[in-house]
Amino acid sequence: MSNFEQQELRIYNSLTKSKDIFTPINSDLVGMYVCGPTVYSNVHLGNCRTFLSFDLIFRYLKHLGYKVRYVRNITDAGHLENDADSGEDRIAKKARIEQIEPMEVVQMYTVDFHRIMEQFNALPPSIEPTATGHIVEQITLIEKILEEGFAYEINGSVYFDVHKFNEDHSYGKLSGRNLDEMIANTRELAAQSDKKNPQDFALWKKAEPEHIMRWPSPWSIGFPGWHLECSAMSTKYLGEQFDIHGGGMDLKFPHHECEIAQSEASNKQTPVNYWMHANMLTLNSKKMAKSTGNNILPNELFSGDNSVLSKPFSPMVTKFFMYQAHYRSILDFSNDALLASEKGFNRLMEAYRALNDIKSSGKGAFDVSAWKQDCYDAMNDDFNSPILIANLFEASKKIHSIANGKETISESDLDILKQSMHEFIFDVLGLMDDSSSSDGDTKLEDAVKLLIELRDKARANKDFETSDTIRDQLAAAGIQLKDGKDGTTFSLN
Ligand SMILES: [Zn+2]
Repeated sequence: MSNFEQQELRIYNSLTKSKDIFTPINSDLVGMYVCGPTVYSNVHLGNCRTFLSFDLIFRYLKHLGYKVRYVRNITDAGHLENDADSGEDRIAKKARIEQIEPMEVVQMYTVDFHRIMEQFNALPPSIEPTATGHIVEQITLIEKILEEGFAYEINGSVYFDVHKFNEDHSYGKLSGRNLDEMIANTRELAAQSDKKNPQDFALWKKAEPEHIMRWPSPWSIGFPGWHLECSAMSTKYLGEQFDIHGGGMDLKFPHHECEIAQSEASNKQTPVNYWMHANMLTLNSKKMAKSTGNNILPNELFSGDNSVLSKPFSPMVTKFFMYQAHYRSILDFSNDALLASEKGFNRLMEAYRALNDIKSSGKGAFDVSAWKQDCYDAMNDDFNSPILIANLFEASKKIHSIANGKETISESDLDILKQSMHEFIFDVLGLMDDSSSSDGDTKLEDAVKLLIELRDKARANKDFETSDTIRDQLAAAGIQLKDGKDGTTFSLN
């Protein structure tokens, strides 16, 4: 019997605005699509939180025994500035500023994104399609929407007719908006726009002469609208109707609303059963965003190289910090919160290591089976990782009492405890024991501390050649030294 047959998973569905029992379309198969990054800059920590939230969801579904096809796209064309239908393509703009090819921009930041996700120990998706690799599928989808009468062509561009669609569908049902309000809140249509109505959105845009990313189509040499790629690629890899579609909260409108409209217009059925949205990470209580500069890059966090940080924090501590909040809650980033999470993470890892040395003896007072079900109940309640972590801390306390001889545990309970702790910490939360007290790391830390001492001595003796050599050689080996007011710390790259 699969795990999922014994557990009742509920997912908060942004569409129904309630926690719905999860029932996949095809019994043990789950199709999940998550909107991936637009690769025109280094992924910042706010973006990472979204992808780590869906990594947790992916991991738990797999843990329950589902076969999950997880599709997460790479947006490498069509995403214009301000998420609008006009303005420059984000990737093309970066290419122009840096004087490189757009595909060099795409390659550079795709590699960066993958590297960061790997450092966070996030599992790769099953399929990672790109917008530029699916131009044909997007053109076919536009043709279908045109055929169904929900789009119109003007001057080589094609727009989705929101007003027509809304006559017998409901545009805005996901974000809770309605068209009348949208009309009331819209300023006059810009004079240069070809759109019939301001609420219409581009499916295909004719390329201006300066627009360098362009493809031939039946309407013009141009490029697809940003919302189109996700509809085309989710349909291609998951079917016209699939289980879960996720993304950041800010994508609900217009991006996901437009996806629903495109799919319903072309396939005559609603594409997604469960819409999931991860909340944002804030810094100084404001949304982290590339455009405002209010953000932290993962590398700054891992090296400690940012003025808001007192020290470096490891990817695992960062991930633990994120999972101590529920994915639908806003999480504010601060140095103090990370310091607290680091203590918690280390405590959990210590308990896990102590578990291996515990001996069973007779009957135990700790009801391990009930505790295990509590862990499942937490995750079954819309992936409530903070409650799961609280349960893991509960077990950690027991582990220490047993290790200190204050409590006992039976052999069978000890087996369940070991297995469950391992599964929840490493398989579900996807943590790794990278804390400094693990064996190999302790030795490395001792060696680096010795070198820092030698460097301090050399500097005290004004032997800067030696002190610089130590710093540079360590840097070449991927170990960064950072001098602060409380002495020198180090981080591994
Ligand atoms: Zn998308």
